Amino acid sequence: MKEIILCKYGEISLKGANRAYFEKLLRELLKKRTAAFGAFRIYSLQSTVYIEPENEDADVEGAYRAAKNTFGISAITRAVQTEKTTEAILETAKNQFMPYLEGAKTFKVEAKRSDKRFPLTSPEISAEVGGAILEASHGRLRVDVHHPDVCVRVEIRDLAAYLCAGQERAIGGMPIGSSGKGLLLLSGGIDSPVAGFMMAKRGVKIDAMHFESFPYTSERARMKVLSLAEKLTEYTGEIHVHIISVTHIQEALRDACEEDYFTLLLRRFMMRLSERTAEKFGCEALITGESLGQVASQTMEALNCTQAVCHMPVFRPAIGLDKEEIIQRARQIGTYETSALPYEDCCTVFTPRHPQTKPRLGKVEEQEAKIDVDGLLERALEGVEWVTVG
Ligand code: ATP
Ligand code: MG
Repeated sequence: MKEIILCKYGEISLKGANRAYFEKLLRELLKKRTAAFGAFRIYSLQSTVYIEPENEDADVEGAYRAAKNTFGISAITRAVQTEKTTEAILETAKNQFMPYLEGAKTFKVEAKRSDKRFPLTSPEISAEVGGAILEASHGRLRVDVHHPDVCVRVEIRDLAAYLCAGQERAIGGMPIGSSGKGLLLLSGGIDSPVAGFMMAKRGVKIDAMHFESFPYTSERARMKVLSLAEKLTEYTGEIHVHIISVTHIQEALRDACEEDYFTLLLRRFMMRLSERTAEKFGCEALITGESLGQVASQTMEALNCTQAVCHMPVFRPAIGLDKEEIIQRARQIGTYETSALPYEDCCTVFTPRHPQTKPRLGKVEEQEAKIDVDGLLERALEGVEWVTVG
């Protein structure tokens, strides 16, 4: 029996003249992601990507899971491939295909004949295959055309015929890399991994930037961030994590500036450092996990003051989500448990008692005039470290 994986694209099918480019990118990504599970031939035909094992050793189940989490694919199924003759199709339906219907009580058959030279029409194929399955099930299965447990699809395509039992929703979105590269400001919190996932789903390749304040933050806090990045790589592929220490900046702010501006000033430093790193590594946007009104530094006034130091667009995909929604997404993508670990973050070091919620830009700039902004930035950038995960 030859089992293969069929993937339907989502938005790519709407791409008109650029479609071939997106298809090629998706095939390359699938090739990379399935490589760990054996040798597969990957090709696209008629709005479908085929993932075909090249030999018996290939782990089809593993490749299926990897493909299901690959952005750009909207539905996925395992199918039995058979020769394009009525006899072969009926024979497959009665034998190799029956295990796919385990657990079902009712079914219906839908046939699609994109090769119009095939001698039976689609309704005829459905009727024949339905009959074959009923016979092989010895009374266990019934046909229900309205609410079947399983919809059996028979597709007569150019190369062969395929039988599959239903299809699962896959992750959707656009292939990674089709929308450029962005730098994700990745803290150890719940929001930023979700923000990274959301932008990656739109096709953005992700690099990450993490700020730490050793010795106020620990090695464990850094490991936590790296394991969050590692979790994201299940969707995004390899991530380069840039790590910068901001301890000396925080100490300078503590010594020279008004306490209630402290978080905001630090955030402006983070944005400047991120933008410089982004420029150096070919990222075209910054991505943060900010959500409007969540904390003092995320009021509209505070966001405007933070934004003011950046020329690059800053994407904040979680801006309109509330905490519950963000947590729900974090659980879905599997980052919640790690994010919930209690290690300290640099934002929690020297936290002001009464942070400004309605800062004015003039006042913020007055505070910055008291310190050597460029010197502090230079020193931070000299100490940048770099780790690749995934
Ligand atoms: P999160 O749950 O993502 O940590 P938060 O609710 O803790 O968010 P803030 O601490 O104000 O909110 O951070 C807002 C955003 O700034 C984060 O989502 C992240 O993108 C970025 N950020 C904050 N701290 C760091 C850090 N130490 N390193 C890198 N980025 C950070
Ligand atoms: Mg945080």
